[in-house]
Amino acid sequence: MPSPQLRLAVLRYLEAFARRFNLYELVRFETEVVRVRRDGGGGGGGRWAVTSRKIGEKEKRDYDDEEEVYDAVVVCNGHYSEPRVACIPGVEAWPGKQMHSHNYRVPEPFHDQVVIIIGASASAVDISRDIASVAKEVHVADRSAPACTFKRQPGYDNMWLHSMIDRAQEDGSVVFQDGSSTKADIIMHCTGYLYDFPFLGEDSTITIDDNCVDPLYKHVFPLEVAPHLSFIGLPWKVIPFPLFELQSKWVARVLSGRVKLPSRDEMMEDAKAVYSKLEACGWPKRYAHNFSGYQFEYDDWLAEQCGHPPIEQWRKMMYAANKENKAARPESYRDEWDDDHLVAEAKEDFKKYFPHDCNAVNITEKTIILYIQNLKSGTGTDARQQLFATKQD
Ligand SMILES: Cc1cc2nc3c(=O)[nH]c(=O)nc-3n(C[C@H](O)[C@H](O)[C@H](O)COP(=O)(O)OP(=O)(O)OC[C@H]3O[C@@H](n4cnc5c(N)ncnc54)[C@H](O)[C@@H]3O)c2cc1C
Repeated sequence: MPSPQLRLAVLRYLEAFARRFNLYELVRFETEVVRVRRDGGGGGGGRWAVTSRKIGEKEKRDYDDEEEVYDAVVVCNGHYSEPRVACIPGVEAWPGKQMHSHNYRVPEPFHDQVVIIIGASASAVDISRDIASVAKEVHVADRSAPACTFKRQPGYDNMWLHSMIDRAQEDGSVVFQDGSSTKADIIMHCTGYLYDFPFLGEDSTITIDDNCVDPLYKHVFPLEVAPHLSFIGLPWKVIPFPLFELQSKWVARVLSGRVKLPSRDEMMEDAKAVYSKLEACGWPKRYAHNFSGYQFEYDDWLAEQCGHPPIEQWRKMMYAANKENKAARPESYRDEWDDDHLVAEAKEDFKKYFPHDCNAVNITEKTIILYIQNLKSGTGTDARQQLFATKQD
């Protein structure tokens, strides 16, 4: 799990970004968008009636809702809040507790428990290691593992990797496809999230099938209502901030008329190519927004649309180096790394934006890099002080 200090550093970066670009005054806090519908009131095909309500009120009354009409709606509601859970035959009668990684915070509640973790991606890796420090046993069920998988995890005497769960039983036991079974206290679903747009109706023209949002041009614009409706942030297995920023810039340029979208037919051809690629790779539809292996190609395409230079080489190399480091040092890759030369390159690059005093900039991505460097060299307190001092400015 990212350390609390790093989480705080990211939060401070986002706060500073919002202050630097005067974004706070554009955000209506504590307000939920509950409905987005095409506006039929003579405003033209592209207009949307957006209904919102203040949250936190004890009784929500429909007549308190506010409706406003906009030329365009950009949906950025994230995709890490609607949990996806695995189907487990027999689980209704199983007496244990189930939870999703979304609700995981600290390992202590799992003290001396037998825990089954479903999943093999980032959350499962982080949470299983965290819990293994206190639990009696941790069993990781990985649906991609061959059916006979049952092996103790290197470096642990209380953690095993299994193939997927076959069934759960009334007596509390859980049987794996490898034939082994264990009496478990908790099943933790580290199985990701679902795209969910409860405020959109059919007139948005998109559907979600097997977690694929469809049909979209370049994972952003629904073909039928482009450019008046768009989605930022659907891709996963990416470095989110630079990619989402480039998507946002592209949408802004399209909406302001500085960049033109291709014809509907051309956009359709492009959308179809995504499905052809999935089919050719033998991937399920839910991998449609999985950008593993081609996020930088996409970043560079977006940058080109916006007249920007391609994404920095050091960023690409840092991503690759981190991947290697994670494989080599699964326990400590967040604290130890060998790519200081790339950090130095990044710092040089940031001088373009902060030419005067490289050590006295506001909280920026660069400050986070300095901060991480200082944590690594044991002088984290100075960096923390810098972050907090800047916040109070
Ligand atoms: C466990 C975990 C670890 C992660 N670690 C990293 C990491 O180390 N590095 C990294 O770069 N990324 C990481 N990510 C991914 C990163 O958190 C996301 O990519 C990023 O938050 C996406 O930003 P976003 O603005 O698209 O969505 P979000 O950050 O989810 O923001 C969506 C916002 O929309 C609001 N919203 C939703 N519905 C409505 C509505 N109807 N009306 C009004 N507002 C609404 C929400 O309240 C929220 O404020 C991690 C994610 C998870 C779950």
